[in-house]
Amino acid sequence: MTIVTNLGFPRIGARRELKHALESYWRGETDAAQLQATAAELRTRHWRLQRDAGVDVPPSNDFSLYDQVLDTAVLFDAIPQRYRALAQRAPLDGYFAMARGLQRDGVDLHALEMTKWFDTNYHYLVPELTRDQAFTLHADKPLSEYREARALGIETRPVLLGPVSFLRLSKATDGSDTLALLDRLLPVYAQLLAQLKDAGAAWVQLDEPVLVQDLDDTARAAFERAYRYLADVPRPQLLLATYFGALDDNLALATSLPVDGLHVDLVRAPEQLDAVLRALPATRILSLGLVNGRNIWRAALDNALILARYALGHRGPDTLWLAPSCSLLHCPVDLGQEKKLDAELRSWLAFSRQKLQELRVLADALDGKASAEVALDQARAAIESRRRSPRVHNAAVKARVAALTATDAARATPHVQRQLQQAQALRLPAFPTTTIGSFPQTQDVRLARARNKSGKLSDADYDAFLAEQTAHCVRVQEQIGLDVLVHGEFERNDMVEYFGEQLDGFAFTGNGWVQSYGSRCVKPPVIFGDVSRPAPMTVRWSRYAQSLTDKPMKGMLTGPVTVLQWSFVRDDQSRADTCTQIALALRDEVNDLEAAGIRAIQIDEPALREGLPLRRAQWQDYLDWAVRAFRISASGVADATQIHTHMCYAQFNDIIEAVAALDADVISIETSRSRMELLDAFARFDYPNQIGPGVYDIHSPRVPDSAEMVELLRKASDVLPPGKLWVNPDCGLKTRGWPETRAALEAMVGAARTLRGEVAA
Ligand code: GLN
Ligand code: ZN
Repeated sequence: MTIVTNLGFPRIGARRELKHALESYWRGETDAAQLQATAAELRTRHWRLQRDAGVDVPPSNDFSLYDQVLDTAVLFDAIPQRYRALAQRAPLDGYFAMARGLQRDGVDLHALEMTKWFDTNYHYLVPELTRDQAFTLHADKPLSEYREARALGIETRPVLLGPVSFLRLSKATDGSDTLALLDRLLPVYAQLLAQLKDAGAAWVQLDEPVLVQDLDDTARAAFERAYRYLADVPRPQLLLATYFGALDDNLALATSLPVDGLHVDLVRAPEQLDAVLRALPATRILSLGLVNGRNIWRAALDNALILARYALGHRGPDTLWLAPSCSLLHCPVDLGQEKKLDAELRSWLAFSRQKLQELRVLADALDGKASAEVALDQARAAIESRRRSPRVHNAAVKARVAALTATDAARATPHVQRQLQQAQALRLPAFPTTTIGSFPQTQDVRLARARNKSGKLSDADYDAFLAEQTAHCVRVQEQIGLDVLVHGEFERNDMVEYFGEQLDGFAFTGNGWVQSYGSRCVKPPVIFGDVSRPAPMTVRWSRYAQSLTDKPMKGMLTGPVTVLQWSFVRDDQSRADTCTQIALALRDEVNDLEAAGIRAIQIDEPALREGLPLRRAQWQDYLDWAVRAFRISASGVADATQIHTHMCYAQFNDIIEAVAALDADVISIETSRSRMELLDAFARFDYPNQIGPGVYDIHSPRVPDSAEMVELLRKASDVLPPGKLWVNPDCGLKTRGWPETRAALEAMVGAARTLRGEVAA
């Protein structure tokens, strides 16, 4: 009997039940008991769902009220000093304070830093450790959730973040090396493993995804030390889980660790199977990650079967398990709930529940069960229909991509020349001021959109409403005295969805929610076919806004890499190809904006950096096609048209050359929180084009004064030629209110004027 196991299940709930329970708890409308009851209900439902889908061993402790890395920190009592008093008094409040910060009754606790979980769109909380960090077993979440399932008659495999990954994902606030804490951490893992064994757990899954990244000798030594230590303690059997890529040069390390089983990702890295089979001792369990936990496509079961049978040919059936490639956290819950998609498109997809059913079919097929044949046939038919569908393939798009030449990806002249023509066309002062695009998305704006969507507000009335918002926004910017204006983005819900909805090749689910962080979920568009643009997407609002003012109106687009990165992408062609198609659609939009009289166009690429592959060796390839895609979208315009881009993060050191290669005339970036420190990268590299370092943080309602911004601008002028500097906030203003937005922008314009005065004198 081939065994199917699962590495993790989405916890948010098919209807985002956990989100709603959390948010009403945070608003004080429900109490902790109600929140915990919803959480328990979801766990029960998900265990049963997995069992019914044919999973022999579902995971436990994969649930979290907020984040599994935060859970791990709390479990080991790695609670930073500032939260300790609260956490002792009220553990749940302490937990949420670490996750979200807390401002109440004179306490002001800022949250732990949040960052992306490997190359996913999930964000985890970064544990803060110190050189003298102590660890103790502080809570019993893994144990109690294991017991909870057991009481339901379901035998689970508890999941723990492995010790080396935990330390590597944490940061030391005093600059020490987190891995140096390993020896203190291991006894606590041992204690926990002993408890799980006593409770009856046969296996524990230790997630060590850092094994698919580049590791230095210290990290490798830490792995050896950790797992040698854990080999000798009383414990359940250990499954070492790796995912998101190939083990590559860490294969020998991973297969030499004294554990009882190894999970490998054969979706991202099918080519590693042979090497794994050769390296892994025959007595160990090999868990094959055969179904993609990162995407929503129905699996090509025949291909998966080939891999599984190949593995079977090399090892006994008792040592093989089937599983998804990684936790299903990154996948929506159940396609059965999906009413919005047409039947054909739906037949091409599989969400978490369906993926587990696919694994069951694979296992049954391996066991020679006749029942599997029907399911395999259905899968084959669906794959075939998708492969051949005219909805997927557009010959004109493919031909256009194939015909691209180097000239299509380059402006006609270098920036130094373009700059002169742009200066003439735009007539801007020194230190020109602008914003990043969005203005406050007030309750009114969101309500009008919702009412229009549900049919309560007619399209004509909604249009009139948007026109009024836009006109108001333009008026306010003129009053404030900004130099390059924006239309405010009131018509947009989400910066990717807005474009996806207007492009061919995109589909939208009704309930395809994926957790982004805490209670926040995203519903990524599904790119299923060749991408094309049936009609202009933004020209109308940009042209209207330009008609209201003599100042230049900046057009506003989401860039090809960001659209790609924040969608579920095709698995039947490369990301590079899909990105190029999006780039061509955007190129047409850029050209149309220019033809409509828009002289500055911003192409946002906030996701450029997060698309970086997990292994450095693959970075250059990615950066090459990503940069080319951006340039294809930006290069169809005349020299006098100014192309802007925007990125809202602060780490540019290792990608600065690619950022320069985008050849945008102006780039705006986030800098105010790091007090302009990140400009070092731009200065050291001698960044050739113009740059707008954010002069104030838009993430808080705080209104900075002019003097503060003058100081930041002076700092920037120290490292960059003042003639290249723009003045703008860190990012878009959609989450802010009007009063603070107006005040902050007035102060910002004041700061620019001060700088102009200094330069003139
Ligand atoms: N133009 C977008 C805005 O202002 C940019 C958003 C972003 O950088 N994420 O909202
Ligand atoms: Zn931004």
